[in-house]
Amino acid sequence: MTPDEDVHTRAQAAFLGLALGDALGATTEFMSPAEIRGKYKVHRKIRGGGWLGVKPGQVTDDTEMSLAIARVVLLRGHWELRLIADSFVAWMKGKPIDIGSTVRKGIRHYMNSGELEMPYNEWDAGNGAAMRMAPVALFTLGDERELKRCTLQQARLTHNHVLSDGACLCIGRMVQAAILGADRATLRELASKLVVKYPTFQFNKYRGNSSGYVVDTLQTVFHYLFTTNSFEECLVGVVNQGGDADTTGAIAGMIAGAYYGPEQLPRQWLRKLDKQVRKEIEYLSPRLVRMSPWAERKPALAQTEVRGAEMMKKIELVSAEKAAEQLNTTPLNILMHVKRGLLKGQECEGTWFVMSDSLERFAAENGGDKSNQVCKGKKCSCATSCG
Ligand code: MN
Ligand code: MN
Repeated sequence: MTPDEDVHTRAQAAFLGLALGDALGATTEFMSPAEIRGKYKVHRKIRGGGWLGVKPGQVTDDTEMSLAIARVVLLRGHWELRLIADSFVAWMKGKPIDIGSTVRKGIRHYMNSGELEMPYNEWDAGNGAAMRMAPVALFTLGDERELKRCTLQQARLTHNHVLSDGACLCIGRMVQAAILGADRATLRELASKLVVKYPTFQFNKYRGNSSGYVVDTLQTVFHYLFTTNSFEECLVGVVNQGGDADTTGAIAGMIAGAYYGPEQLPRQWLRKLDKQVRKEIEYLSPRLVRMSPWAERKPALAQTEVRGAEMMKKIELVSAEKAAEQLNTTPLNILMHVKRGLLKGQECEGTWFVMSDSLERFAAENGGDKSNQVCKGKKCSCATSCG
């Protein structure tokens, strides 16, 4: 796999990881760890159920809202916040299986005021904006400023709070870093930077809170991300913590999916995941990455390289001596071929050079044909007349 393919598959694994975490966690949402243990011992299968009564593999608002953002971006070909807000409205009107109260309030606020940002509210530190970060991370890959701009815009449609902002940005950065191949230490550093800025996120002494409060949510995600060694164990740990399990699962899923890559997404879980959802994520993910600043820079660079290489090839000048070696003849004969127009060449400060492309063409055209071979000198008997 090329490094570029690796980026694409990790990006897709991030988005799929989100959906898997959502579908897995929906079963244990709002349960306590003890209740989960009593019912399942360890919940590690996508089996549906839960307080929403989802079908096995069915996803909830976390995935649905992420898909809504991704669709708009792909459809428009760029980031357009108002259309994202409109698509949230349409989604809400479609009576989704679940919707958070802060999300509902935010969408209502937009419907009533047309404003694309909620007023600051100290109670809006829920995880409802953080759960939508996967498409933002993919679309802005490779550009920190774009990541910040799009993250804060989409977040504040429903949540306007420093802790939500901080969490969203941190998740976006971690997903992007993981997609680009960051190691565990780098991810940990990104999480630690959030803690430095907002010490309340401190996750070293995990106390087991996994509510929808974005601080609890991220502490749960970070705790399991950094104390497990596989995608599956990370997600199993997170969702067996209960609480807002589908959302902690979704956020852990996007970071761990990008970090561990597609081979680590459990086959059984993927098979269970809603087919339509899986298909759409597989369709959208690579396209979002192709629209990203990371990808836009690539073709530009590659084209320059190709053009540069072509030019280099055209203007490459081979000395008459070198050309003679290549054609197994003498420099003098090379000169004569130039004069006859059989080779293209030029003089530069007393030395004759031959254009490499004409040399190649001549060799290819006259390769096996003795009569057209460049003469070897005075005793040569070739038909091209040795002068
Ligand atoms: Mn949900
Ligand atoms: Mn939830």
